[in-house]
Amino acid sequence: MLLGFDMETDVGSWTPFHEGLRHGTPKVLEIFQKHGVTGTFYFVGLSAKEVPESVHQVKEAGHEIGAHSLYHETVGDAIFPIPGVHPLLPHEVMPRLELNTRWVEEISGVRPVSFRCPRLFGSTAVCNALEDLGYVSDASYPLYHYRHRLEPYHPNRENWTEQGTMKLVQIPNFADLSIESKDPLGRDCDQWPLFRTESAAALLDHADSYLGYLDAHGISRRVLAFYFHPWEFHPMPEGLIHFGEGGVFPDPFIVKNCGEYALEQFDILLEGLRNRGAKFTTAAQIAAGTS
Ligand SMILES: [Zn+2]
Repeated sequence: MLLGFDMETDVGSWTPFHEGLRHGTPKVLEIFQKHGVTGTFYFVGLSAKEVPESVHQVKEAGHEIGAHSLYHETVGDAIFPIPGVHPLLPHEVMPRLELNTRWVEEISGVRPVSFRCPRLFGSTAVCNALEDLGYVSDASYPLYHYRHRLEPYHPNRENWTEQGTMKLVQIPNFADLSIESKDPLGRDCDQWPLFRTESAAALLDHADSYLGYLDAHGISRRVLAFYFHPWEFHPMPEGLIHFGEGGVFPDPFIVKNCGEYALEQFDILLEGLRNRGAKFTTAAQIAAGTS
C-alpha cells in the first residue's frame, strides 16, 4: 500500500498559491501519525523552495521525500490538454528534472529517489531521465488509462508502459478496472478524487473491487498506490480564481469538499485500509521489493 502525496501549488497547475501546502500538510501528517503509517511526499521544486517548512515537517515525521517536477508542468505524455499548460519538449525533460532533484535535495538534505509526474502524465523520456538521475521509483502509471500493468515493473527504455531492463521501478496508480468505462480516456474508473467527492467508503469499495480484479488475473503481489494533494485538505475557492491578468475556473469536482470533509474521510479511509490488514510502505520500499 502506497500513500503518495503530491506537494504542489493549490489545485495543481491552476494557481500560484500554496495555502494547501502550508495549512493542509500539518493536518495530513497528524492523521498519518494517528494511524502510525508512512508514505511518500513528492515535492514540486518551486513549492519546496517557497514553503521549505513543509519539507522539513514531512522529513521530521519520517516519511520519504520525493520529487514532482520543477513547476508542475506537463513533463510526460499528456493524456488530455490542460488550459495554459503545454507539454515539455523532449530535450527539456532532463535539465528540469535535474533541477527539481537538486532543489529538493538542497532543502530536504536528502536526494530524492522517488518521482511522480504531474497528473500521472508519464513518458518514456521521463523514465529514461529518472534512470540516469539515479531514481529508484516512478509512481506515474495511470491504470485508468493504460489498463494493463497490474503490479510494479521495470520499464523498457523504448516504451515505458512495457516490461524492460531499467533499474527504475514503475508503480501503477490503481483504478477500478472491474467497472465498465464510459469515458474514452477511462477517467471514470480512476480512484481520484472519490474519497472527497463521494466518500472514503466509496473509495474502499472500488479498492476492494480492484483487489478482486487482481485475484481474477492471478496477481499475487497486491500493491495499491493512492495519490492525494495537501490542497485537498484545506478549503479551496469554488468557481473563478483570479490572479495576475485573468482567472481560471476549475471543473467543480476538482475542488469539491476540500478541507474538513476531506480530512474526515481521509481518516476513515486509513482506518478502513488498516482494518483490511494493509501494510503501508514508501515508494522506495516498493521498488526495493520488486524483483
Ligand atoms: Zn500534481
